[in-house]
Amino acid sequence: MPRAVPPLRIGQGWDIHRLVPDRPLLLAGVRIPHERGLLGHSDGDAVLHAVADALLGTVGAGDIGQHFPDTDPRYHGADSATLLAEAVRIVAAKRGRVVNADVTILAERPKLAPHMAAMRARLAELLGVDEARIGLKARTMEGLGAIGAGEAIAAQAVVLVVLSPPRRRAAR
Ligand code: MG
Repeated sequence: MPRAVPPLRIGQGWDIHRLVPDRPLLLAGVRIPHERGLLGHSDGDAVLHAVADALLGTVGAGDIGQHFPDTDPRYHGADSATLLAEAVRIVAAKRGRVVNADVTILAERPKLAPHMAAMRARLAELLGVDEARIGLKARTMEGLGAIGAGEAIAAQAVVLVVLSPPRRRAAR
């Protein structure tokens, strides 16, 4: 008999958005004061997009581009928190629950240190886990490349999910 696979699934996600004037800056669902914001069909929240892609990856459910195509006017200006909530729902439908998530934001500016606690709390809320299960880091690019020039912000995420066993049929 083949050995049972442990019911843990890992997923990773990555995203980048261009910083442009006259857009609010949203990261991990938190509004951050800055003279530029992230361009996107949705609200451009690269952190929530990376986390949603990582989540979908845990159960092999594709990516957010497939589930929420940017050609669909329904997602124009969409709150990325609702996209992430939908990814949580897709994973839950496959009996998956988040164990923990670890996220790194790549941004030259603005300084994210004053906003880390709020972003971490919001991620915990959206993923339905205790804050202790959320890792959140911010790094600069040491001035290198487009991110280093302050033209874009990127995020990467790893999420671990545990699958609950299929329900046994009730005995008659
Ligand atoms: Mg995106």
